[in-house]
Order: sequence, then C-alpha cells, then structure tokens
Amino acid sequence: MKIDVSNVTYEQAKKRLKELRHLLHYHSYLYYVLNKPKISDYEYDRLFQELLALEKKFPSLITPDSPSQRVGAPPLKTFKTVHHRIPMLSLGNAFDDTDLMNFDKRVKRELSIPTVEYVTELKMDGLAVSIRYENGILVQGATRGDGTTGEDVTLNVRTIRNVPLKLFGDDIPPLIEVRGEVIMYKKDFEELNKERERKGESLFANPRNASAGSLRQLDSHITAERKLHMIAYGIGEVQGKMFKTQFEILQYLKKIGFRISPEAAICPDIEEVIKRCKYYTAHRNDYPFGADGVVVKVNSIELQNKLGATSHEPRWAIAYKFPPEEAETVVRDIIVQVGRTGTVTPVAIFEPVELEGSTVSRATLHNEDQVKKLDIRINDHIIVRKAGSVIPEVVRVLKEKRTGKEIPFEMPKRCPVCGGPLVRLPGEVAVRCINASCPAQVKERIIHFASRDAMDIDALGEKIINSLVDMKIISDYADLYYLKKEDLLKLERMGDKLATKIIKNIQESKNRKLANLIYALGIFQVGKYTSELLANKFKSIDAIRNASEEEIAEIEGIGPITAKSIRNFFSSEQNIKVIEKLRKAGVKMEEKIEKKGMPLKGEKFVFTGSLKDFTRSEAEELVKELGAEATETVTKKTTIVVVGEKPGKKYEKAKKLGIKIINEEEFKKLIGGKK
Ligand code: NAD
Repeated sequence: MKIDVSNVTYEQAKKRLKELRHLLHYHSYLYYVLNKPKISDYEYDRLFQELLALEKKFPSLITPDSPSQRVGAPPLKTFKTVHHRIPMLSLGNAFDDTDLMNFDKRVKRELSIPTVEYVTELKMDGLAVSIRYENGILVQGATRGDGTTGEDVTLNVRTIRNVPLKLFGDDIPPLIEVRGEVIMYKKDFEELNKERERKGESLFANPRNASAGSLRQLDSHITAERKLHMIAYGIGEVQGKMFKTQFEILQYLKKIGFRISPEAAICPDIEEVIKRCKYYTAHRNDYPFGADGVVVKVNSIELQNKLGATSHEPRWAIAYKFPPEEAETVVRDIIVQVGRTGTVTPVAIFEPVELEGSTVSRATLHNEDQVKKLDIRINDHIIVRKAGSVIPEVVRVLKEKRTGKEIPFEMPKRCPVCGGPLVRLPGEVAVRCINASCPAQVKERIIHFASRDAMDIDALGEKIINSLVDMKIISDYADLYYLKKEDLLKLERMGDKLATKIIKNIQESKNRKLANLIYALGIFQVGKYTSELLANKFKSIDAIRNASEEEIAEIEGIGPITAKSIRNFFSSEQNIKVIEKLRKAGVKMEEKIEKKGMPLKGEKFVFTGSLKDFTRSEAEELVKELGAEATETVTKKTTIVVVGEKPGKKYEKAKKLGIKIINEEEFKKLIGGKK
C-alpha cells in the first residue's frame, strides 16, 4: 500500500496529522474498547500508512500520543489491570512483495549478515492474550490493552477449553508467560449471531469482535458459553528456560499442551517467505477461524534480541496482510434508504456472494456522486469486496461485460417514504428528505434512541417501534416515556407479559448515564466517543445546550464541524421541545454520580473471597460510583473490608488491624440495593 506524500507541505502535514491522530484514536476506541468497528481494517490500515508516511517525511511532527507510538487502547476501567513486564506489542505491516523485501533488507543491514532465516505463521484474527503459569499452574490471564497495561481476564481465560489449567510434562519452568490469540471459529460465530438476532441483540461485526467481546466479559459464565479457542504463538516472561529459535518455542508450546499456529514453517530466506505468503493467501478460507495475514519472524532468538523493538512493534517481525477478498456478482436493483438524519442513501442489491466466510447481498453506494463515479447500473457485473469483514463495498463495474440491458439509476426527486421533496444542500454530497416528521426518519431516530449503546430499552424491538409510529401512537422518542400498557396492547401479537416488560424497560432507561443520553439524542456527527467527551466535560444536558461552539470545539477530540452540528441541534426549537418532554417524564439529564451524591465518599474498600451476586470488578465499580475507593491490599487506611466466601489473608489482616468487616448482605444494604 503506497501512499504518496511527496507533494505535501509541512503546514498541510501538520493539519492532516492532527486529523489522522484523531481519526485513528477514534477508530481504535471503537475497535479495541467497544469491539464495534465502523470502518474496515483495510481503511484503517490506509489511514495508518498515511500517518506513517507523513511522520517519516516530517519526523518533528511525531507526537507522543501518535498511534505510531502506541499500541491498542487503554484497558477498560471495570477490569482489574495487569502490568506486562515485557510489553505486548503490535506488528509492522507489509502489503506486498516489495514491503517484504524491504523488511528483509533492513533486517540484514542492521545485523550485517547476508541472509536471514525466518519462520512464517498464520496470523490469526482474534484478541491477544498473555497467560501466566507458576510452577505449571495457570495463575493469570490478561488482554494486551495498551501494550503495557492489560485487563485481568483470568476467570474468563480459565473457561477456554483448550487452555491448559496445568501444563503437561516435567519440563516446566517455575514461571512462563504464554502469549497467543483467542479466536472463535467461523461456524460458532455465525451461530452466535443467529442466536443474538433471535433475541433482538446487536450483532458482532466479525469473529474477531465476537472473540474480543466474549473474552472481555465481567461475567465469566458468558465467556464460558461462547466456544472460544486459544492458539499460542510466543512467550513473554520466562524463568529458568532458554530457547534458541522461534520454531523451538512453538514446538515447546505444543509439548506443554497448547495448540499452535497451524502450518508454521521455517523459510531459509525472504524468497521462500514470499512463496509461503502466496500459499497462505490461496488457502486463507480453508481454516476454521479467521486469518488476516502471515506473521514473518526472524527465527533466531539471539538475532531477535539484537534487533530489539520500537515502542510500537518488534523490529524482528512483520505482518503480511492478506489483500481484501473480492468477488464478482450482478446488480439486481438499486434502492434508496432514508436514515435518521434524513440522508437518502442509494444501496446496490446484488446476487448473494461469499466473501471472507459470510454471504453478502447489498452494499451502500454512499451518495449520488459515488453512483455517478462508479457509473453503476442495474444488471451490471460488479466487483465487490468486504475488507476486514465489516462493510461490503463495490470496487468497480465490469463495463466490458455490458450487454445493453443495463438500466441507469436516477436519484428520486421525492422521498420514497413520505413523498416529501428531496434536496441537496450546497456543498453537501448527501441528498436529504427535509421533512423532520418523515416516518422513516422518526422510526430510525427512535430505533437509535432505544438501541443498546444509547438508552438500552432492551425489549423494544424495531418492529414494535415501526408499528407504534405507523399507528401514530408515538411521533418522537420522548413519547416513549408517556406510553401506557393499553397503547402497546393495541399492537398485533402483543401480549400482556411483553407489554409489561417494555414499560418496565422504558422506565428503567430514565437513569442511564449522561453519555448514553447524549448519544441517544441522535445529534448529527455525535457518536459514542464524542458523547463520552461531552459528558465528561459538561456533566449535564443544560450545560451543553448553553455552551458556545468555541467552548465545544476546545475539547480535544471534537472538531469544528461536530461543534457546529451540536450547536445547531440545540438551536432547534423542535429539539428543545423534545428534550423538555424527556425532562418532564423524569429522564436524568445530569451525570448520574452528581445527582446521587457520594454517600461512600472517603471510604476505602477491600474485597476478599467470592461474592454470590457480584463479580469482584462489579462490586469495585459500584463502590467507586458511590464515591469510595477500592483497593487491593488491606492497610491502616482501609476503612471497610467486604468478606465473601473463602476469604483470603486479607480477612485475617483486617481483623488484626481492627478494620470494619462486613458480609455480602451488609454490603448490599450499604450500597442501597443497587443490584
Ligand atoms: P495487528 O493485528 O496488525 O498485529 C499484532 C497482533 O497480531 C498481535 O497482538 C497478535 O494478537 C496477533 N497475532 C496473530 N497471530 C499471530 C502470530 N502468529 N504471531 C504473532 N502475533 C500474532 O496489530 P494490532 O495492533 O493488534 O492491530 C492493528 C490492526 O487492527 C490494524 O492493522 C487494523 O487492521 C486493525 N484495526 C482496525 C480498526 C478498524 O476500525 N477497523 C481499528 C483499529 C485497528
């Protein structure tokens, strides 16, 4: 992937780098923290390569927070953290033979040797884990996190069936940290998504997100149900054992009970590596799990140590990324969809094709300009791809296959849903339906409002919302809070039980976090990440409403376009009316903690033993929400020790120090029945 930056000036680079850092942080957050990517890996890699090219040209513009200087994203606060003594790094990328040759040249130059032996391994597309064994017994499992600090997922890792809880054989060192990838088989992923669809839950974008979402669960029972596998590829910290080569490490891992990367091979030189990469590319779909490339590693550990690492990646390894998979198909129709902001999007419907292990039959064409640029017509033969298993896209039209039966697409002049006029504002690529009460927009806005990351009104599915709007029972999302059971019972196939559940869910949603409410409002350009930023800064809806465009744009991570859009939203009388309706219904408009006060402020909690109704991190998170601190060790400063079943030494220490000790029931009373 070559990005040409030869004509970019210093000033242009400075501006673009700021933008790229923001974009890459935002997409990393969606990918690593929320497990919900919005763009394909291919697009992400393109942005990352552009950043690298600009930083290479203008090294003085590299900032410590640049994604090129960091790995992944910080761990979620709800987990205990684990410090990686040997950092868990990312990998540099190669996209073609030339990149591989250049990597080899650099390695040889740095080592001053004529040829280097490599090992090639399949690059599994999952989530990196580190598993620590002391005297052969599993004691800790952790995610990579930001490379130096990961999340403690020990209980969850223990549920993965092919992870040995005790290592095999008698050649076991006192300490060994095994590193590998947690993956989900493609068939298990599809079953999981089918099940989620049945339950009306949001779907995982791909097996990688499903494995990450399953491993990073606060409740290990959920992880246990998810059919995860672990494939080992390396070693972190180790005591009392030395290895000469990467290949030897793999064989050793196999001997002590791990599954290792299939078809790992020794290649005497880079030419052999290139051949091997072609082989894996041709077989990429034959594996039961997703693979996104080949990891090429210098085989000798001594040479690896000589080469060392940057803060982002080892200098002795590189990831060759498979090119996005493409397929040919035929366009059957081009339809338009109306989104919640009124944007009318053309969508190509085509003969279903298999791509990266799943079936696709539609792709967004984004806007009128894109349709013109591609010159796509109904009955055209097209090439589609689904880079990174996320959003399918039309790459090009095979005009040489045209027969004369192709029908050009015309953007409708009127909204296909409400019949209102469609307009294209100057300077905008999108065509919009400007009727704010167009049922399509109303429905989409309410569906978004009730979705999991927004107000999370679990039982209120899309079909129910559509019927409520069609029957004119509701016309905006605030109306949900005024719904009565009798209203719901008017709907077809609605039983008393479900209606009661919906009303209960709606009432519960009044207490969501401020960030969820901001996101739920559906402000153009304001996603989950921006909502968090706004909630952190302003702490209430009213403060955001009163903030100037400049004050909003001052927040690191929010640009002027988003700031303008937020201001516009709050300047609309219609929107303010809906917000007031929400307030009147009792929806919380401030940061939860502030309203509740901090009844446990000043307390320092320590938990020992297992609680029946809470995981450790849930309990810790609860006391933090109420203003207290939660710490690991009992000291004189500890004020309350909560004792569960089978308490450890902390209990004895607390007794010795005369610290207040309470059991789970007393703890529940203290937190006011929050669970
Ligand atoms: P990476 O996935 O490119 O490579 C590093 C990882 O490879 C390791 O941490 C390890 O988990 C894994 N791996 C799999 N098999 C391995 C093997 N045999 N040996 C060694 N490691 C192996 O790097 P990353 O930092 O995890 O992620 C960056 C990539 O993630 C990007 O290139 C992009 O494709 C994707 N990404 C996508 C988005 C998005 O929005 N779509 C956002 C962020 C990152």
